[in-house]
Amino acid sequence: MNYTTDDTIVALATPNGIGAIGVIRLSGPDAVQITQKVFKGKDLTKQASHTIHFGHIVDGDVILDEVLASLFIAPKSYTRENVVEISCHGSAYIIESVIKLLVKSGARPAQPGEFTLRAFLNGQMDLSQAEAVADLIAANSKSSQQAAMNQLRGGFSNQLKGLREQLVNFASLIELELDFSEEDVEFANRDQLKQLVVNILTILSKLIQSFELGNAIKQGINTVIAGRPNAGKSTLLNALLNEERAIVSDIAGTTRDTIEEILNINGVNFRLTDTAGIREATDTIEAIGVQKAYEKINQSAILIYVFDAVQTSLEDLNADLESLQRPDFPMLVVANKIDLLSEEQSENIPHSENMLKVSAKQKQHIEELKHKIYHTAIKGQLGGDETLVTNVRHLQALQKTEDALSKVLEGIDNPITSDFLATDIKQALHYLGEITGTVTTDDLLENIFSKFCIGK
Ligand code: GDP
Repeated sequence: MNYTTDDTIVALATPNGIGAIGVIRLSGPDAVQITQKVFKGKDLTKQASHTIHFGHIVDGDVILDEVLASLFIAPKSYTRENVVEISCHGSAYIIESVIKLLVKSGARPAQPGEFTLRAFLNGQMDLSQAEAVADLIAANSKSSQQAAMNQLRGGFSNQLKGLREQLVNFASLIELELDFSEEDVEFANRDQLKQLVVNILTILSKLIQSFELGNAIKQGINTVIAGRPNAGKSTLLNALLNEERAIVSDIAGTTRDTIEEILNINGVNFRLTDTAGIREATDTIEAIGVQKAYEKINQSAILIYVFDAVQTSLEDLNADLESLQRPDFPMLVVANKIDLLSEEQSENIPHSENMLKVSAKQKQHIEELKHKIYHTAIKGQLGGDETLVTNVRHLQALQKTEDALSKVLEGIDNPITSDFLATDIKQALHYLGEITGTVTTDDLLENIFSKFCIGK
């Protein structure tokens, strides 16, 4: 990783491959001068920020391309440095030639994430915002886009910065006590400190809890459809997806392996897996399928258990429910094939809050099922502007902060000397700072930015 910002970097900002246009980005003190060396048109060095100019990229006498050059003069740019974006025609040959030419003229090929790294180093954004850029680019649903956007706009870091500042205040008061340790004074009011720590711990615990949903939203919520063979699992999967994907057949045990599909409900992605039937297997391949089904069920965030409302006896139903039920594990029970039942028979099916009667084949009550799946997963946690933690690194730092603050609380309740208290508060400050990047190490930055693509 290169932490210098005194040279000018260049990279393709749009995806590799053929496109209508390709955007080459330069950032650094000489971005405009270097572009000017190969640009035939207006004198770019004399143009204002946020202007676009038509011209040619030339290599000696050879015209490589007709382009548009956009200028962003420091500090009014993504990196807070001079930035030029050259929109070329999207041919791999043209792009490669233009980048080579810019490198020959004094730019250096950028490393992965280096533009965003510079934005961070130049104070344009904090670390969690830089990470949000990566998340935003990777976002594939409305909810993951919103979580990333919220983080990018600083919702998360602002909350933490406020807390950190208050703690810093106390830390300095306690440091002051250390200077007067002979005199046994308390500048930092222990009741107020305790109140602050309790407040922070409450917020931390909420943020930590939000990770489960935040992460699920980022990855897609792992949802498994299970049930006995022929219950209609594949048909239900198709009905939910509204298309013919899984193989539907009359032969019990057809869905041998697992298939994963993405179902988007209200902007949240659910990763739906259809499993082989749960029942005694008659051959080895099927036994593997059944075993896989149970493994999948155990990893799922939500389980949709389907049974054939015509064929399934109450004993079998209860046996299945017992084998699947786990504490705190959301499970929806779906009675399928109600199109084959009379109204009276349908009424006789045992009813409960997490149960729904549907016909997968006739697509009856499928929208209600989607609604239930969504609400089971979200539990009212989405829709407001609460922060969702989506990043494992943040989660770990929050947990470490929580540990350190619990020690502070212990220290206040069972009075320890100011120097120990100061140490614990400093620990907490350190971990909080790791999230926003107030505290960084090269390893941490390397780890974060090396995962970016070149050009970001
Ligand atoms: P799986 O083994 O659980 O995946 O079951 P399938 O989805 O392959 O369905 C087994 C059989 O039940 C197929 O012939 C389906 O057409 C039929 N089936 C599935 N759902 C319904 C339904 O709601 N009503 C009726 N009448 N038949 C259904």
